[in-house]
Amino acid sequence: MGELYDVELKNVTKRFGDFIAVDNVSFGILKGEFFSMLGPSGSGKTTCLRMVAGFYDPSSGSVLLGGSDVSGVPPYKRNVNTVFQDYALFPHMTIAENIGYGLMVKNVPKKEILARVSSMLELVRLPNVGHRKPSELSGGQRQRIALARALINQPQILLLDEPLGALDLKLREEMQIELKSIQKKIGITFIFVTHDQEEALSMSDRIAVFNKGKVEQIGTPNEIYEHPNTEFVANFVGNSNIFEADIASKLTGKSQKIMVRPEKMKILSKGESTEGYLSLEANLQNFVYSGATSKILLQSKTGQRIIVAKQNQNESLLTPSQDVVVIWKESDMHVISK
Ligand code: ATP
Repeated sequence: MGELYDVELKNVTKRFGDFIAVDNVSFGILKGEFFSMLGPSGSGKTTCLRMVAGFYDPSSGSVLLGGSDVSGVPPYKRNVNTVFQDYALFPHMTIAENIGYGLMVKNVPKKEILARVSSMLELVRLPNVGHRKPSELSGGQRQRIALARALINQPQILLLDEPLGALDLKLREEMQIELKSIQKKIGITFIFVTHDQEEALSMSDRIAVFNKGKVEQIGTPNEIYEHPNTEFVANFVGNSNIFEADIASKLTGKSQKIMVRPEKMKILSKGESTEGYLSLEANLQNFVYSGATSKILLQSKTGQRIIVAKQNQNESLLTPSQDVVVIWKESDMHVISK
């Protein structure tokens, strides 16, 4: 018997006219998992999220929630809630009224609404803003209120569509930590859509990487980063050095395309011992300095472009156009399927 998933997509395809936005996608999400859908713009992430929410029906295949097929079940009858990037708070209502709105329309007694609103404000660490209007809060605070409003109905699954997209980098990083800790505290399933690979790596239990309507790979952040299956995943999630099969075969003896992450490579001066490593002679072309780290761009004698990343711990003795040797361990090299 298969595992019982909280959310499952089985051979789901979504067409808009002749265009295939989601192409035969299948995966399952476990209860309490923080699951991210990561991919470039237009790769089909939001369309998948909308099929889970019930805003779209699949053209073929099925969506299961808690093990039941939900075809034809409208959004409000599904035990899911969505947080959007633009918050969608009602501007004329106070924060407390915004958060309690879903309960009010369900005729929940006023006293209970007040208690639940106040516990939600505690959860998102904004206990004293209930009387304010949305315009009196910062972007990050508004996003936390949108989260409180989505959680007050106690959904089984929370869908988050680029919820941090409108925030500046610093606030975004703070909210990533906050969101993750709220999710762990309440233990519900989060499905998080993002095109930001660092965000997906730092927050998720598992990630599905989307490309052109298909899922290229599903795995933990570590699996996706350390063992990308395809060239697309290797390049979309972090930087990578890809060696085509003909070049790789000269290095490894096997005619398979391979990938090495830039931070797994080291640069030696010519003549230094390369024992225990694979190596390639290269010419140093450029440095890109970015504070804690630098990227060093090189070109091998065979014309291959190589990126090496290094920590800026001490003065570099490297100079442009210098001939050097790039080395890496065989265990840091991974075969790429396509
Ligand atoms: P983004 O990060 O830009 O939102 P995405 O990966 O979420 O991208 P989707 O919004 O799922 O991508 O869109 C996938 C493709 O389907 C896009 O090419 C989009 O133009 C198309 N599409 C989405 N919704 C519709 C629609 N209602 N009608 C027609 N085409 C649509």
